[in-house]
Amino acid sequence: MATAICLGELLIDFIPTVTGTGLTDAPAFIKAPGGAPGNVAVGLARLGVPSAFMGKVGDDPFGHFLANTLAEAGVDVGPLCFSTEARTALAFVSLRADGEREFMFYRHPSADMLFNPREVDVDAINRAKLLHFGSISLIGEPSRSATLYAVDTARAAGCLISYDPNLRLPLWSDANAAREGMLLGLQKAHVVKLSDDESEFLTGMSNLKNACKALWHDELKLMVVTRGRAGCVYFTPAVTGEVASFTVEAVDTTGAGDGFVAGLLQGLLADPAIFQDEARLRELCRFANAVGALATTVRGAIPALPERERVQRFLNNR
Ligand code: ADP
Repeated sequence: MATAICLGELLIDFIPTVTGTGLTDAPAFIKAPGGAPGNVAVGLARLGVPSAFMGKVGDDPFGHFLANTLAEAGVDVGPLCFSTEARTALAFVSLRADGEREFMFYRHPSADMLFNPREVDVDAINRAKLLHFGSISLIGEPSRSATLYAVDTARAAGCLISYDPNLRLPLWSDANAAREGMLLGLQKAHVVKLSDDESEFLTGMSNLKNACKALWHDELKLMVVTRGRAGCVYFTPAVTGEVASFTVEAVDTTGAGDGFVAGLLQGLLADPAIFQDEARLRELCRFANAVGALATTVRGAIPALPERERVQRFLNNR
């Protein structure tokens, strides 16, 4: 029985075998499991939280590869559906010489986009304590309705709702649709994790405090803005503060944000009163920073997500 359900997209990331080249010149690609909610589900399982993944992949070798990857990491894939109508989504991702990432998506449509409200596992949600989701499944129908239905069901069941609106502008029809869709998810969440780029995109404000004020709503318990190697800034109705991250040898930052979310959510589940206690909240942000930092020290997202013991050892040595 899963305590935490992660809902959204699972896809294959194809990463060039050589770095510093664009997709046009990349000679070959390696396949890697991708999709932020799947990473969070694995991150939670590695930290000892029973997690499940809800969504849809193609009934094809890539879909089964993704399901097996999550299951091997200890994630319950019972709520994951397989589509015979569309294939598993693909994303070709390169890191160019100028440090910019280049994306090319194959989703015309992909199986994750066809996840529909009838496929939402209501029983699993009713047994859970937390539902985490992102914004990619809010882009089009029917996955948008399925996501909103799952979130509303989880809210009615008393679950804590966590949201990470990853900005992937090319997947939306335009910037306004992206802003509206991303804000829709935020309105339904109790806990929100943003990057500083995302908070600026959503509000047009570069000042973090003002941006968070503009995004705040009455049901929010916690908003955390991550800032890469600088760590994170937290906001609750009562307090705000910063917690620095750790110096590590980062080789690949993919999945750092998802690791951070997993680190944060395990603590919120273990200590539901933490929102009222700033000292404990800061300690939790430190833990989440450690998970995020460790996730950058190994290539790939899922292979890099650390077990609880590793995080503890890392923290004890600081
Ligand atoms: P996202 O992947 O969502 O953009 P960030 O890059 O902000 O998220 O990373 C999430 C968290 O991971 C940060 O708040 C920080 O704690 C940690 N982190 C990320 N990159 C580094 C780094 N280079 N060094 C140390 N910690 C990092």
